[in-house]
Amino acid sequence: MPLQAGEIASEPARERAAGRPLWRRAQRDPKFRPMAGLGDLDTFIGRHRRLFVLTGAGCSAPSGIPDYRDADGQWKRAQPIDYQAFMQDEATRRRYWARGLAGWRRFRAAAPNAAHHALARLEAAGKTELLLTQNVDRLHQAAGSAQVIDLHGRLDAVRCMGCEARTPRADLQDDLARLNPGWLALEAREAPDGDADLDGADFSTFVVPPCRRCGGVLKPDVVFFGESVPRERVERAYAHLDAADAMLVVGSSLMVYSGYRFVERAAASAKPIAAVNLGRTRADALIALKVEAPCEAALAFLL
Ligand SMILES: [Zn+2]
Repeated sequence: MPLQAGEIASEPARERAAGRPLWRRAQRDPKFRPMAGLGDLDTFIGRHRRLFVLTGAGCSAPSGIPDYRDADGQWKRAQPIDYQAFMQDEATRRRYWARGLAGWRRFRAAAPNAAHHALARLEAAGKTELLLTQNVDRLHQAAGSAQVIDLHGRLDAVRCMGCEARTPRADLQDDLARLNPGWLALEAREAPDGDADLDGADFSTFVVPPCRRCGGVLKPDVVFFGESVPRERVERAYAHLDAADAMLVVGSSLMVYSGYRFVERAAASAKPIAAVNLGRTRADALIALKVEAPCEAALAFLL
């Protein structure tokens, strides 16, 4: 009984589990323990009627979208661009869009992985009150999830900071490519959020077009570091959390307060919280059940 611990799956659940490859491996190999919480996760999901699901970068990593943080919650690379620098400094904007021009194509080509599909399946089964994602890649929607709030916005849209017009990022990509033909050929290493490294490049010649309507500054429709999530969006998500009876965190270290506050609120109203994450999270003390496993493997039983 290598997977038994605490409040474990009922007999039918265990029978269902018997057909799953990870369980079979675990049963064959007593030293194979990384999935030791899976039966508990199955039970947790089965026990709660309406789940408030919060996802983060760990969910998109298998789709080739890199994570900002490592398993200890530390920055893997230089901290990403911040809001004040972007708004106040034209050189920063040139650099951002030059890197974005190179990174966007791969970002756009990313496809949902098994974790996205598993969560879409959970919603289709009527188990999800809301999927709140910190990711800006729209891969949950691509996998079929409908009840989604993009907490930090979406990278496939551009917002004018002057007139608030929203336009497709693909249109701006065309403009950037047309205005900067020499930059298209540059190969760049992929970075989070459609960004890319262009070490040593001279960005002063990179041309960034203004808003066609008002001449204002164009910004990706995502929440940058140092920028607040719109209040209305937070309130809408809170309302769903209040209507849920439990919370499931998938692939987030919860280091950013904009996501962590939902765990705080769930804990304050005594809603049980489960998490799937490799490495520690800021909310480890508040989490009742934690599965330290890759998201795809941990949720595979839902598929
Ligand atoms: Zn405008």
